[in-house]
Amino acid sequence: MEIILARDMGFCWGVRRAIAIMEEAVAKEEEICSLGPIVHNPLVMEELERKGVKMVQGNDLPSKGPLAITAHGAGPQVYQWAKEHGVPLIDTTCPIVTRSQRWAQRMAREGFTVIVFGDVGHREVKGVLAWAEDKGIAVTDPSQVPPGVTRIAVMSQTTQEPQKFSEFIARLVSERIGEIHELRVINTLCNVTSSQQEAARELAKEVDVVIVVGGRNSANTKHLVEVCREEGVPAYQVERPEEVEPQWLQGCQKIGVTAGASTPDWVVEEVVGRLRELAAVADGLPSHS
Ligand code: SF4
Repeated sequence: MEIILARDMGFCWGVRRAIAIMEEAVAKEEEICSLGPIVHNPLVMEELERKGVKMVQGNDLPSKGPLAITAHGAGPQVYQWAKEHGVPLIDTTCPIVTRSQRWAQRMAREGFTVIVFGDVGHREVKGVLAWAEDKGIAVTDPSQVPPGVTRIAVMSQTTQEPQKFSEFIARLVSERIGEIHELRVINTLCNVTSSQQEAARELAKEVDVVIVVGGRNSANTKHLVEVCREEGVPAYQVERPEEVEPQWLQGCQKIGVTAGASTPDWVVEEVVGRLRELAAVADGLPSHS
């Protein structure tokens, strides 16, 4: 069996930056409350929690602070709340997400209905919609755009696939052209995730199975699984090495490995180590653990 790694995968610079900011802050403070997980990876979060980062939800904000905003960003109400309560903020919002938020605010203030192509339950999308004040909506299909909307600004969740975003825009135009007076398209896709999705697609074409390493609540990791399956290859998502099932590899000559943008290198290395062991067993060789 051969193990082949995607040419682009794993931690993106936005996540590295967020973790670096948190590690620097946690070295100075006894405890920091984080508004949700800093990144969508339980192993990274366990490590940060051990160092003094405590996760809180929006309705359970600390009375003093400091409060960390995650790489996915937050709505303006969080900044306002912190200002009013004198709570210091540690802002790790990825600059690419900040750009989306600025566009959402600007387009809403110019009178556009902001349509975000993405998952309404995702924290990045919720934050971007909050910047659009009450003029934004998240959708995954043009039929979900409310009727009678004439001036539309279309944006995307940063981790969506470029092809799906462009198909969405094409369908929106063809199905709603009679109603639309003005349409702005703002490309808010992150090229880190697009590049990783492209690399996953290439990988899927040359292997028999793909193991995708990343947090189950990570949107970009889920998209990598979808991309590989679209190429007709079985793809399995794991958070930890012990989750790899030996039967997934049965009859496989080439095993592909890729990882989401919030997956640290050491987790990928451990998964590859486990795959090597399983491959050695399958090939009848002694395994080295
Ligand atoms: S995937 Fe892109 S948008 Fe998301 S944190 Fe990384 S660099 Fe930023």
